Amino acid sequence: MTAKPTSTAVRIPAALTVKELGDILNISAIEVIKRLMTNGVMANVNQTIDYDTAAIIAVELGLDPEEAVAEEPAVAALALEEEEIADDPASLKPRPPVVTILGHVDHGKTSLLDAIRKTKVAAGEAGGITQHIGAYQIERDGKLVTFIDTPGHAAFTAMRARGAQVTDIAILVVAANDGVMPQTIEAINHALAAEVPIIVAINKIDLPTANPDRVKQQLTEHNIVVEEYGGDVVAVPVSATTGEGLADLLEAINLVAEIGELKANPDRPASAVVVEAEMDAGRGPIATVLVQAGTLRQGDAVVAGETSGKIKAMFDDQGKRVREAGPATPVVIMGLEAVPEAGERIRAVADERLARTIVDERRRGREAAEQTDHAHVNLDTLFNEISAGKLKELIIILKADVRGSAEALKGALERLSNPEVKLKIIHSATGPVSDSDVMLAEASNGIIIAFNSRTDPSAKKRAEATGVEIRSYSIIYQVLEDVEKALTGMLEPKYEMVTDGHAEVRQVFKSSRLGQIAGCYVLDGTIKRGSPTRVLRNNEEIGKGRCEGLKRFQEDVREVQAGYECGVVLSGFDKYAEGDVIEFYHEARVN
Ligand code: GDP
Repeated sequence: MTAKPTSTAVRIPAALTVKELGDILNISAIEVIKRLMTNGVMANVNQTIDYDTAAIIAVELGLDPEEAVAEEPAVAALALEEEEIADDPASLKPRPPVVTILGHVDHGKTSLLDAIRKTKVAAGEAGGITQHIGAYQIERDGKLVTFIDTPGHAAFTAMRARGAQVTDIAILVVAANDGVMPQTIEAINHALAAEVPIIVAINKIDLPTANPDRVKQQLTEHNIVVEEYGGDVVAVPVSATTGEGLADLLEAINLVAEIGELKANPDRPASAVVVEAEMDAGRGPIATVLVQAGTLRQGDAVVAGETSGKIKAMFDDQGKRVREAGPATPVVIMGLEAVPEAGERIRAVADERLARTIVDERRRGREAAEQTDHAHVNLDTLFNEISAGKLKELIIILKADVRGSAEALKGALERLSNPEVKLKIIHSATGPVSDSDVMLAEASNGIIIAFNSRTDPSAKKRAEATGVEIRSYSIIYQVLEDVEKALTGMLEPKYEMVTDGHAEVRQVFKSSRLGQIAGCYVLDGTIKRGSPTRVLRNNEEIGKGRCEGLKRFQEDVREVQAGYECGVVLSGFDKYAEGDVIEFYHEARVN
């Protein structure tokens, strides 16, 4: 075997845009697009394609492609890996706990956050003007506590959906006069799914109708057993209005924090999470970030999701300018190029150039991933995931029209658990599928089963964008059957129509032997004999048929590429007219 001449060797990255491929192959982007089209791939100039696709074009040009493991991405990858490296235990120092307040609407989350914040101001802290930046810190007995200032589990789970576990302790607020309500249960399930310790704040005890004991009892029914009932959850009676019990609540927080032995290494490049971000007319993109590890400093080059920048200035929750921020400290930063999203990780890297490389690489990676299927679990792909050993637990969020069916389904589904896959229902409730359900599914890599429940339009949109599967049913045994089939790999195969190409009818001939022959010009893709087709007139389907005959001049051919003329004979349809378009397709299995 002779070695191939090296001049034909060409290195192509794992993912690249059409334009970049053109540059590498020394042909115009238009030429790349045309060639992709002939291979059945529709792409525009800025679209990212993967190596395998790019390699086909390179081979067509007589080149010898090789996947490039570029140096820059290696550097970037290294920077990313750094985070995964466990800190030396000796480098870990105690850090303040980060607390989020969850609970039903109107039970006093905001009032409680404000009341706690005031204890700091009352204690004579500097500043006076407090500004809401999405998080704040207070000091008690010389110990700091960080509160996330956006109450509610939606924000909490939105962060978790992005892989950011910020909260160390969840405060579950329950109004003593109102008791456990639907969102209380939701909050409990979100906190349990996140596996964070819960402290119950029984609020509004100043009201004459307050009944803390009833609250404790109700909580027991939802897996929250307080100490008085033999459990290990601390419940503190408080009043955001009078301030009663706040000191006890803070003490309870410190106690739970101590048990958790929360630590972080302040002496490493900072890693933080975006809590809130917005575009400020005067200052550009600003973001409140919570440092999780390391120390963030003014002047640091940072990456946050798909944006980067250099920290121009930082402010604490009092609006005071600061130069650095250690673990569990919330700060407002200026200097990012774009507004990042809440929950996104922000990381300090060596310099701005590396920051840009990483961002670039992420964008490409995402685009390439978007081209292939989404990674989220769904019933159709479930069995493959189980077989591949990737999935040990099927997480289900169950929404039903009435309590009775929710409970019946829950029990029946749980019995489907088997040694390979455990079925875990992390939330079951009545009502429509909401945004918060989708976020919970996203954060937990679960699926949603809607039984006689509709889906809120915004939840539907979110599910589509994030790849969360919502399956609607109205018959219980069908739910069980589908889940069981998915678990055993028996789910009916699903097919999707994949278009191979289009041919325009330019002339119609009559043949005594073959009937009507459509003289066509192939507009795009490659059309194949034997393919199923649809005939379109003014974009509307007027007929269907299988391609029985395909001819170039007098010869029978198997396929014809874009840009060529051919004769087409369909079985099942022959009423084509000039200007009709015949769409050739094939069915591809999608599960
Ligand atoms: P959120 O929706 O959970 O954030 O609840 P808010 O903090 O907005 O409180 C809802 C209502 O309950 C407001 O009218 C508050 O003034 C009132 N509230 C909050 N905490 C207390 C409390 O401890 N005692 C009494 N009496 N009212 C309270």
